[in-house]
Amino acid sequence: MVSEQFDAFLLDLDGVVYLGDEALPEAVESVNRLNERDNKLRFLTNDPRFQRETIANRLRKLGIDAEKDEIITSGWATAHYLSQQDETTAAVVGSAGLEIELQEEGIEVTDDDPNAMVVGADEKTSYQDIQRAARHIQRGATFVGTNPDGSFPTLDGPVPGAGAIVRAVEAAAGTEPMVVGKPEPLMFEMALDGLADDVQAAAIGDNPATDILGAHRAGLTGILVAEDKPTTASARDLQQPDLTISSLAHLFTDTTDTWEAPPYSWPDELRPGVAAVVVNDVDEVLLLKRADKEQWALPTGTVERCEPVGDAITREVDEETGLQIAVERLIGVYSHPEQQVFSYPSGKAVHFVTNCFRCSIEGGTPEADEDEALEVGFFDMNDLPSDILPMQPQWIADANDADGSPAIR
Ligand SMILES: [Mg+2]
Repeated sequence: MVSEQFDAFLLDLDGVVYLGDEALPEAVESVNRLNERDNKLRFLTNDPRFQRETIANRLRKLGIDAEKDEIITSGWATAHYLSQQDETTAAVVGSAGLEIELQEEGIEVTDDDPNAMVVGADEKTSYQDIQRAARHIQRGATFVGTNPDGSFPTLDGPVPGAGAIVRAVEAAAGTEPMVVGKPEPLMFEMALDGLADDVQAAAIGDNPATDILGAHRAGLTGILVAEDKPTTASARDLQQPDLTISSLAHLFTDTTDTWEAPPYSWPDELRPGVAAVVVNDVDEVLLLKRADKEQWALPTGTVERCEPVGDAITREVDEETGLQIAVERLIGVYSHPEQQVFSYPSGKAVHFVTNCFRCSIEGGTPEADEDEALEVGFFDMNDLPSDILPMQPQWIADANDADGSPAIR
């Protein structure tokens, strides 16, 4: 059974242990049974408003023996993160509880030239708060959002969550935040701190988009509490749980597959891409040494809004190398995440669906655009440089496939 498969469980609260002030069916008994079995427990909530002690008290009132140190709120995690980054001052849009968590981690809460601008939000958040936050960010304060939830459910219907205010500040400041709460992996990583290095842990939540995705990004097995298994378009979607249970009592009857992390990051966005195998009249292929990765690569780029793919590749090759080309044929469409998810130094990951074309030269002399490439050159297709982007020799081989029908990889 699941309770025997893992040493530790990281439990979401709202929708798993309680809903509002009420414990969910079989939740209290199941959590206590895990405690008796010496499973290590951590309780994780994206709600940044309350102090950890307040949440521990709420659990104790329901009959669960929880300690402050077992609670990870997005508010405390934000404070802990800033203190790990050696930040000493922060301005706050949010609750008194969030301010106290920051102060207890040694962060002074001030509007006098703060290092960080922490946006969490509560029901008193105003237009003036958004303006104040945007100004601090524009003056150089690090923009940190406690959690991305746009809304959360109440008995009277959904109400705006901190994510709604974080996005308002983002729009006003023109800067993207660093976000702490789920589905970012940071809270899960903090929850594992203090447990043994080889601990077998699983995360349990009721939201595939935050709890399960965040668990998987942190390398943990993700168990969903829901009546039905969620549907996702792709079997590779990280929001797909390893097990779906209708209540925590199933931890003592069911078993689960453990999560195996795929060899790619979860992409922040999906983009249409183009690539060119440009061949000269002695059958050599055009490569450029990319400034960002210092590796040889085919000319590539992104399709812009309203731009046909043929125009996109013609434009990209001209921008990157100064060559005018003619598109001869489609070589293939490449979208497998193992080859086509790229992580950038900013921490963002992009999944490209790349249309690759065989092209001939119409005019111009190749010259590296200094923002994009360190060098440009033609290479024998059977003697490519060893430091070429790993998937591109396949694309070049596909360009020479005598059959000529497009590859789908
Ligand atoms: Mg929940």
